[in-house]
Amino acid sequence: MRTFEHVNAPDVQTAVALLGEASTEAIAGGTDLLGELKARLRSPQRLVNLKTLAGLQEISYSPKAGLRLGALVTLAEIERHPIIQERFPILAQAAASAATPQLRNMGTIGGNLCQKPRCWYYRNKLFECWLKGGDKCFAEDGENKYHAILGADRCHAVHPSDLAPALIALDATLRVVGPDLDGELSLEELYTKPTESRRQMTILGPGELITDIRVPIPKNGSRGVYLKTMERQSWSFALVSVAAQMNFAGERIADARVVLGGVAAIPWRARDSERILIGQRFSEGLAERAVEAAVAGAQPLRDNEYKVSLAKALVKRVIIDLCSTTD
Ligand SMILES: Cc1cc2nc3c(=O)[nH]c(=O)nc-3n(C[C@H](O)[C@H](O)[C@H](O)COP(=O)(O)OP(=O)(O)OC[C@H]3O[C@@H](n4cnc5c(N)ncnc54)[C@H](O)[C@@H]3O)c2cc1C
Ligand code: SF4
Repeated sequence: MRTFEHVNAPDVQTAVALLGEASTEAIAGGTDLLGELKARLRSPQRLVNLKTLAGLQEISYSPKAGLRLGALVTLAEIERHPIIQERFPILAQAAASAATPQLRNMGTIGGNLCQKPRCWYYRNKLFECWLKGGDKCFAEDGENKYHAILGADRCHAVHPSDLAPALIALDATLRVVGPDLDGELSLEELYTKPTESRRQMTILGPGELITDIRVPIPKNGSRGVYLKTMERQSWSFALVSVAAQMNFAGERIADARVVLGGVAAIPWRARDSERILIGQRFSEGLAERAVEAAVAGAQPLRDNEYKVSLAKALVKRVIIDLCSTTD
């Protein structure tokens, strides 16, 4: 590993100023970034340690304002927090399903939302793939079992976070602070498919930091579920996951948010499924139509066709689970 300077950030403004300089990266828990450094995927001359920032380690909740998570809250703290377990169970479920207990003790929510793709060509220095600035996506004709089935263009990697789909299903927003901004955006807006001129999967620019995540209180009677399929029971990224949150007016579905993980470069909002569900009473036929809509336009690669049936099965299960527990 090349030597680098390690600076403890005293406050957000100083961190942002330092991160605006060349060859400087933010580090929180380090569980993703250190892997990249060890693999020599990047060699910054300076790391700015966010863990010294005061006020970003807290979880707070009020019945009016909802839930606030500082960007340095760990996945373990989210998983175990009694209010999150009671009021935002899909978030606790998603956190509990991620990685291993050791990684959840170190990994922060800010880092989890900004982690880099796990595509094995991306993680291998020897492959100068399109996302890293090269000309070719090696996954297209290569080993693509874990890659995207929806919405891919030049890059077929999938977004790896478990918490992002759950937070999008809960309509979470972020505060982002940067050299020229201090504003709020929806978590959905953070993610972007990489383009020719912008080969990255978030809209964050140099020096821009997530400081807070805010989650509004789900409406009365709202229910959610997070389901994740993995190759083994822990320490495994989602093959496919689904986060769904619904609320009901009598027997009708008043609102629905359905978000898939492991299928696209961004957490994939199944908007057509949501439109089919909203305003309707549950029936087998309704669930089938919503399931088909969730994977409409899927373009599996040679080794990942199984993800289409997996996604369909998971979407069906979340719809049945949520609709069959109406009071
Ligand atoms: C073996 C293994 C298995 C895993 N399995 C899963 C899994 O199943 N599900 C899952 O969701 N995740 C999984 N992960 C990923 C893990 O959850 C993330 O590595 C972790 O959450 C990242 O948090 P961190 O604080 O360690 O981030 P860091 O490694 O410190 O940072 C990650 C990236 O985010 C940037 N960053 C950090 N904080 C901020 C911020 N506040 N604002 C802007 N940018 C920021 C950093 O600059 C860096 O680029 C796994 C990781 C490993 C190594
Ligand atoms: S899927 Fe994306 S990250 Fe993986 S090799 Fe192709 S361009 Fe690179």
